[in-house]
Amino acid sequence: MKKLLFVILIFFIWVTSIYALSFRTYTKLVPTINSGGVEWAWPVNYDIAYEKGTTYVDLDLYIRKGTINPNWENDVESFWSKPGYNINIDFVTSSDDFNYWVEVVPGYGAPNMRYWWSDLGWREIAHEVGHMFGMYDEYGGNGALNPVTKYIGFDGIMGSILGTNLDRYYEVFDEAIASLNRDQPVPEPATIFLVGSGMIGLITFARRKFK
Ligand SMILES: [Zn+2]
Repeated sequence: MKKLLFVILIFFIWVTSIYALSFRTYTKLVPTINSGGVEWAWPVNYDIAYEKGTTYVDLDLYIRKGTINPNWENDVESFWSKPGYNINIDFVTSSDDFNYWVEVVPGYGAPNMRYWWSDLGWREIAHEVGHMFGMYDEYGGNGALNPVTKYIGFDGIMGSILGTNLDRYYEVFDEAIASLNRDQPVPEPATIFLVGSGMIGLITFARRKFK
């Protein structure tokens, strides 16, 4: 009976190891240009995992100062999430573990990635979060433009009307997964299966032999 429980436990650990998402932190310095032709760059930092056709993105925002609007989290998450892309944003109050810090100022004004205003709508926050994922501005103003394509339209969330979540934005996540896999490949489920089966076999063998 004890042996059966042991085997069940090993099996449980093995199954969990297959289904646990292996999040990795993706960082990048995004080269950009403003409308005046000045070149600069901003840092990107978020956690990402890929499993069974879905990309999972996790962004922890440390609110260093001020108070967020309680609706932002859900609204921004549901805006950026779509089939194949699961976007999770958490506002954290501890500086122990976070991807980005933000300060919130009371009132209303023009935000950037770091400094937000308490009366902003979720679309403006979704736009700034887009930058945190590495997305460029798409309006002709004094923003962070793609140095190659520059102004390409205004109809998406990264454009001046703060519109929809256009498909092209999600290329940053595909690129992040590809780049992480180049640097450090994730073991395939088939490999985990073989290693797991081997381990169970060995343990069973050892237990029989030394009983
Ligand atoms: Zn912007």
